[in-house]
Amino acid sequence: MFGWTRRFSTATSFLKTTTMAVSSRQQHTFQVFRDVPPLRKLRRELLLSNRTVGLVPTMGALHEGHLALIRQAAAENTDVFVSIYVNPTQFGVTEDLSSYPRTWDSDVAKLEELNAELARQNTNSGRITAILAPTTKVMYPTLPPSSDVDGDGSFVTITPLSRKLEGASRPVFFRGVATVCMKLFNIVHADRAYFGQKDVQQTVVIKRLVKDFYIDTEIKIGDTVREHDGLAMSSRNVYLGKRRRAVGLVLYEAMKAAENAYNAGKVSRSEILDAANSVTERVLSEQKVLSPTERALYEVDYISLADPDTLDELEVVDPAKGAILSGAVKMAPLEEAKPGEDCGLGDGQVPVRLIDNLIFKPRV
Ligand code: AMP
Repeated sequence: MFGWTRRFSTATSFLKTTTMAVSSRQQHTFQVFRDVPPLRKLRRELLLSNRTVGLVPTMGALHEGHLALIRQAAAENTDVFVSIYVNPTQFGVTEDLSSYPRTWDSDVAKLEELNAELARQNTNSGRITAILAPTTKVMYPTLPPSSDVDGDGSFVTITPLSRKLEGASRPVFFRGVATVCMKLFNIVHADRAYFGQKDVQQTVVIKRLVKDFYIDTEIKIGDTVREHDGLAMSSRNVYLGKRRRAVGLVLYEAMKAAENAYNAGKVSRSEILDAANSVTERVLSEQKVLSPTERALYEVDYISLADPDTLDELEVVDPAKGAILSGAVKMAPLEEAKPGEDCGLGDGQVPVRLIDNLIFKPRV
């Protein structure tokens, strides 16, 4: 690796020529791209200067989970490109595309703060150089994007992985994810791309995409970033409010119970999943006896114990290989709010689907 001094002087000259004004008319330490050709120009310049690019794809509403991936990308590359794009094709026709949180100004402020932190803390690390925030016309130039299972368009499908787990309840989800990632990979030609363990099936699908289509980008996975009590951070958590936030922890607790069973030497599906299911059932029955102003109800979508490569459900875990334990819980809208209650964005009326997972590491 070459030193920061050399990288910094190159970076300074780029920034002098390329720092641009965006909506707020502020100068930023990164460029904001709405279209592909100018970004490709920058990418080519970076390549010719022997600099490396780490891509962090996001849908915005940035939180510590995203920022941790960006820090990792900055530690391993001279330049970090962050994409912010709420991709319509990964939302089913009845899903929450319109209510997905969009927080552009605070996202940009967080990225600026992170660039300042990177500059302060580690002179040898890379910086956020580019934000790609394309319009949907740019990302889907030919046809308007379709979220119908049989809709027309140019899509990437990765089966059977995309039909399992999340794909069973969200049939277009991974088609949308694989398609938008293929586009981003082709646009950015990143040396490395960073994804969170939190969306474990996504990591498996993306690794398969990169392998099967010979995409010249290394896929790196960052640990799940959690709140102090273990709840996995998610852009959608702002819709939970205090009551559903507290009850929603049930998914993590159920997964920890299953993990304890595995760590205690259990390998059979029933023993491991029973431990998880008894937690989700107990908490739900405790909630059901409360009044509508006190309770938060939910449905367990699935809790899965699967092979780490194929995501096939396992009857027995091979301790030499380990497993992926994953789950999804749908938090129902609150039935009745108490006066002055913090019900979260959308007044507790937006259903929230929580997902989480734990990796059972091989035991040898
Ligand atoms: P999203 O904006 O939700 O599409 O997420 C963008 C990237 O951030 C994906 O690779 C996610 O897996 C990752 N991510 C989201 N939440 C977390 C988290 N709590 N911990 C680690 N990575 C996360």
